Amino acid sequence: MSILSFYRVELGRLLRAKMTWLIIALTLAAAAAPIVTGFEYSSSTQFMNFMGVTNLSGGAGGGILFVLLTLYELSKMYEKHVDTIVEAVSDPARLYCARVLALLTAAVLAVALTVICLLPYGLVKLGYVFEAGFYFSSFALFMLCSILLSILLSAALYALTRRASVSFIIFLLLALAITISEKFSDDHLVKWLMPQIRYLSDDFGNSMMIWLYSYSRFIWFFIFGGLLVLSLLGIRRYGKGLLGSFRINLKHAMLPVIAILLMGAGVYAYAHQPFYDNSPPIDYDTFYGTDEEEPTDLFLLGTELDIEIEAARGSLRGTAVNTVENRAGRPVLSTVAVNTGYTVEEILIDGLPVPFVDLQNDTNGEKEVEFTVPAADGAQTIAITYGGRYKMWTLLKGWGEGSEGIFPRYVSLGGSSLYPRIYVDRDEDIRTKGRLTLPEGLTPVTSGEINTVLSTDDRAGTKTWSMDNEGASMVLEAADYVQRSLTAAGLNIEFYYNRKHEAVMEEIGAAELMEDVISFCTELYGPLPFSEDIPLKLIQSTAYGGGGYASFNLSVMNESTFSPENLGDLEIGASSQEVLAHEIIHQWWGLFAHCIDLEDTWWTDEGVTTFTTYLFVRDRYGEDYANQHYVEKWEAAVAGMLENFYYRNPQYLDILPEQYVAALEGRDWGVQMYDMTALMIYNAGRLIGMDNVTEALSELYETASSNQTDVTFPDFLDKTGLDRKEIAID
Ligand SMILES: [Zn+2]
Repeated sequence: MSILSFYRVELGRLLRAKMTWLIIALTLAAAAAPIVTGFEYSSSTQFMNFMGVTNLSGGAGGGILFVLLTLYELSKMYEKHVDTIVEAVSDPARLYCARVLALLTAAVLAVALTVICLLPYGLVKLGYVFEAGFYFSSFALFMLCSILLSILLSAALYALTRRASVSFIIFLLLALAITISEKFSDDHLVKWLMPQIRYLSDDFGNSMMIWLYSYSRFIWFFIFGGLLVLSLLGIRRYGKGLLGSFRINLKHAMLPVIAILLMGAGVYAYAHQPFYDNSPPIDYDTFYGTDEEEPTDLFLLGTELDIEIEAARGSLRGTAVNTVENRAGRPVLSTVAVNTGYTVEEILIDGLPVPFVDLQNDTNGEKEVEFTVPAADGAQTIAITYGGRYKMWTLLKGWGEGSEGIFPRYVSLGGSSLYPRIYVDRDEDIRTKGRLTLPEGLTPVTSGEINTVLSTDDRAGTKTWSMDNEGASMVLEAADYVQRSLTAAGLNIEFYYNRKHEAVMEEIGAAELMEDVISFCTELYGPLPFSEDIPLKLIQSTAYGGGGYASFNLSVMNESTFSPENLGDLEIGASSQEVLAHEIIHQWWGLFAHCIDLEDTWWTDEGVTTFTTYLFVRDRYGEDYANQHYVEKWEAAVAGMLENFYYRNPQYLDILPEQYVAALEGRDWGVQMYDMTALMIYNAGRLIGMDNVTEALSELYETASSNQTDVTFPDFLDKTGLDRKEIAID
């Protein structure tokens, strides 16, 4: 009998068994468990809180359930000695393969049912963020592959050990080692059972996670597939043991060759992954070092760029023309740093090609290329043509994937990832400008002037945009953005948010609210340190990007700031608008000034930001509303914390389980950072007058933002002339 006819028989038998359907039902339950129990992940995107959690629990739960089914089915055949009967008519290795194939098919069925059953709920829960493509592909890539790999591994273990219990224990050890071990904690490529997904983006695509896990699946299908083929040699023959059977099975001479090729391919793919560079761990001396500050004898007069980004392929190609003056009067060795995934193709100095050396010295996410600039009177142009697929700095491993790079729906590049950064001395008034070509669906936002469309190429489906920035660098964010022009407190503001988010932004009146909060805070604390000549660009960026950042006139806010889940988070504001106001206030406290105190660790930006939100709300909706939704809420939260037995008797924390302590302390920590700190600032206002407190905060902001120093709690006490005892809560 061929494998195919065995497979048909086995599948029919498997699908008639009650046990199979029980496992399928439990797998569906494992996937649905987090959403039925209301478990929410802290990352605050809809995709994470729906697809992320269902895939993780469905994949791990389903994986273990199907391992049980696999071991049950395989051992059943041997216990009933069906194998000796089959052996008489056909090759037992074929039968074994057919059984494994039937089990894999049952797993596909289980995941297909899960996808169909969760679909109505997903459509309702995800609403406008729902994407059919990602919905189906995420279940195939994350949940299904975890289960299929589990079946392959356990079938291989069983063929070798012929013991269901031993196979199960080895499986669990291998799965646990990779899931919880510190050694692998940052490595997506080894997470075959439980993918390490911390963020999923609702608006900006999840290409990096899809690329990483497609590659990871590829590695492990090869390794476990090879292991299974190898294990077929161990299938017991004529009542012999492992070694005896091995000798008989070796007549299939191709099996070990195939097994070694498969496993070798998997290991090779792992060792030669294309995502991360080979940078060693950060060497802080070179990272914050003086390399660039050493005089280079070359003076940069300006940079002209022409860059084309192929977002779908994750790559770019461009030319950077630097105009320099060699003031040394002799040839000078010059260096450029560039992303480790790019290749410098050609360097022309005043139009003539010069030799150059790619040092391949991956360090801090970039590598260096050296060449010689000849002596010359006056300015010379150095034109560097470069291109390639963006590669991540290994430092991003495990937490920052997807935050920077080139993806089909999102591009975020800066420094040497956008164009080769030349080591030079700079004159003051230089500009970096040029042209940027992107797929039609992506709108660029770069440091400096507003980007305008220079030309459209309908045939190629691309648009070419202008870029122009004061200074010697450029940062780029690009996505399918809607652009809204606002004015607040004399600042021109360009607000860029994802088109997919348009309805939500309009519903909460985000643009108007931004104007309102920025005007309010400018009056209260002083202007944000952006120039009035060029617009402040407020940009919504991907959830993978952490909190956000500011660079030149760009201020980037993580998409989860605007997600319905965050906007409904009543911990930090009474309504979506107030939550967003809180996030905008972080432009002052969080981005340009920081409250940090190593002694009083609860003194953070959150307390001052929460207090400022209260001031804004009081100003707009009146004293009663603000007291009810803020002051009373703070008082209740603080009272709850103080009444807590364990807060009053911390010595008893020692006898509680560790996880419970962490949960208690985490809750208290939030109360202290937000409610207690805000209440203390409010109490200071009761003692010395609210105007005097805001005056003090304004002065602290001014000093901290201009000197780039941190504001400590004693600084606040100094400024307000208060004593710690007068406002402390304990
Ligand atoms: Zn906050």
